[in-house]
Amino acid sequence: MYPSSFDYHAAGSVQEALALLAQYGDDAKLLAGGHSLIPVMKLRFAAPAHLIDIGRIPALSAISDGGANVHVGATARHADVAASPIVRTRVPLLAEVTAHIGDPLIRNMGTIGGSIAHADPAADLPAAMLALGASLVLAGPSGTRTVAADDFFTDVFTTALQPGEMLTEVVVPVPGAGSGAAYEKLPDPASGYAIVGIAVQLQVRDGAIASVRVGMTGLGPMPMRLAGVESALAGTAASTAAIAAAAARAGDGLSFDDDVRGSAAYKLNIARVYVRRALVRAMAASAG
Ligand SMILES: Cc1cc2nc3c(=O)[nH]c(=O)nc-3n(C[C@H](O)[C@H](O)[C@H](O)COP(=O)(O)OP(=O)(O)OC[C@H]3O[C@@H](n4cnc5c(N)ncnc54)[C@H](O)[C@@H]3O)c2cc1C
Repeated sequence: MYPSSFDYHAAGSVQEALALLAQYGDDAKLLAGGHSLIPVMKLRFAAPAHLIDIGRIPALSAISDGGANVHVGATARHADVAASPIVRTRVPLLAEVTAHIGDPLIRNMGTIGGSIAHADPAADLPAAMLALGASLVLAGPSGTRTVAADDFFTDVFTTALQPGEMLTEVVVPVPGAGSGAAYEKLPDPASGYAIVGIAVQLQVRDGAIASVRVGMTGLGPMPMRLAGVESALAGTAASTAAIAAAAARAGDGLSFDDDVRGSAAYKLNIARVYVRRALVRAMAASAG
């Protein structure tokens, strides 16, 4: 199917994009990589009269090392994030998760900001944002604000972005010594999206788990942290027994239904299995 007709605007700066958003309001949509928006428009689930292309704004795709944090511009493409030496060495979980997205065509076009703003409940990057404790920089008519990933994803395809705002930058804290991370994903064989995806970022100090964050995608209405798993692990000795006890709590706070993707019992099982796999690898990685 073809999308309904629209006017195309190529924004030359963030200010210009914001001005166009203010001018056209609900009739406008930002266009980044187009790999979620265009399919939705072709299906006529969305029919914006104005598309504001932010993919040509210089510097909005920059990736830089700020010391304590890595900064990734909203229009950095998945393939560039996955291949970035800064990302790979400083925040390896982000590189690993990004490399799991779709296929090379998707990764060559899709952007980090588009994926996070779209907030598909089966997308990979939101789980990474939660595990990494990332922050999202939003620019709007009244200035710039920073929102923690924990507060950003609010419901199905719904985020803290307000009308007239755009995501400009992702700020990712650099993990300290003794850290390890892993992403374990069961992809849908047709789409590549996650049936379940578990992102773990943890730190081991003196043989004990000093901090751990577990982000989950695919099995809930939105990406979420697995609080039961995190509390079972925090402060315990980094051991196989601790991992088993924590993985048993993967379903805490989640409710599963039988549907075309599997029974409730199957979903609970894969949640536990993928949490255990991710924890095992993250723990091994923390040992260097
Ligand atoms: C066949 C296929 C397979 C895929 N497989 C996967 C997969 O395995 N895992 C996965 O995670 N994703 C997958 N995707 C989605 C892909 O990663 C998309 O590229 C991504 O979700 C959206 O990024 P985009 O840059 O293309 O955004 P667009 O499609 O351009 O925009 C998506 C939405 O976000 C808004 N938006 C874009 N940028 C901003 C911004 N900076 N600020 C505010 N709003 C913004 C747009 O207005 C639009 O509503 C797949 C897509 C396809 C078509």
